[in-house]
Amino acid sequence: MVSSKSNVILFDSHCHLTDRAYSLNLKEVINRAKDTGVKYLLTAGLNRSDSKNSLKLCHEFDSIYCSIGVHPHDADKFSESELTEFKILSKDNRVKAIGETGLDFFRNYSKPENQERAFRAQIDLAKELNLPMVIHIRDAYPQTMKILKENGYFKGVLHCYSGDEAFAQEAIKLGFYISISGSITYDGNKLKSVIKQMPLDRLMIETDAPYLAPVPNRGKRNEPAFVRYTLQTIAQILNKDFSSLAQITTDNAKRCFGIQD
Ligand SMILES: [Zn+2]
Ligand SMILES: [Zn+2]
Repeated sequence: MVSSKSNVILFDSHCHLTDRAYSLNLKEVINRAKDTGVKYLLTAGLNRSDSKNSLKLCHEFDSIYCSIGVHPHDADKFSESELTEFKILSKDNRVKAIGETGLDFFRNYSKPENQERAFRAQIDLAKELNLPMVIHIRDAYPQTMKILKENGYFKGVLHCYSGDEAFAQEAIKLGFYISISGSITYDGNKLKSVIKQMPLDRLMIETDAPYLAPVPNRGKRNEPAFVRYTLQTIAQILNKDFSSLAQITTDNAKRCFGIQD
C-alpha cells in the first residue's frame, strides 16, 4: 500500500470529472486527489456539451485542465458546425488538447464511417490549433495508424493504452506519448513488456476515472487519488523508485499538454 504521498507531484492525465458518479461530492474527490499529491488533472471531453462542462470545471477548481472533442462513441452525432465552437472554446488557456477522439470498433456505439469522419476532422482541428490530441483506440489499431499517417499530424497521447509493443514503438517514433491506466494493476495484464520497452520520457499515467479503478479498489468507482496505485505498479515493473517516476510522468504530461507552471 502506498500511503499519502504529499511530497510527490502526480498528474492524472485522463479522467472524466463531469461524470454523474461525482455529482454529489466532486469537491471531496478533488481534495482527496490533492491530499495524495495529484496536483494536475486533465478531464477529457466526450462531446460538445461535455466539453463545455469540462471547461466550466476548470474554472471552478485550480489545477484542472481539459480536452475538448467528440468521443468515438458520440461520433454519430458529430457535425462540422461543432468545429467552430471548439475553436472558440480552445481560446481558453485551460483547454490543453483536442479529444478524446479516435476509433472504437469494439463497442461500435457509432458507425465506423462516422467515427472516421469525426476523427479526421479533429486531427485537422488539432493541427490547425497546434494542440495535442487525446486519442482513444479500441480494436482499431491499424485503422487508427492509417488515418494518423494520412493526416500527417502526430502530437498527443494514446490514452488508456491497450495495444501491442510494435504499435507503441511506432507511435512513440512518430512523437506520441503513451498513457497507462489502472488496468496495469490487474492480474495477467499484457502491457508489462510494452512498458519495459518504452522510453521513460513518453510515459504518462491516468485513471480514466470513474472507470477502471486500480487494485485495491477494482470494481469500485475510480477517482484521481487512485492514480498512485497505477504508478506504484509501474514502479514495480520497472524496478524504479516511486517518486522519481512521479516526477518523470508529471513532467511528461506537462510537456505533452504544454503546461508551464
Ligand atoms: Zn477513452
Ligand atoms: Zn476517457
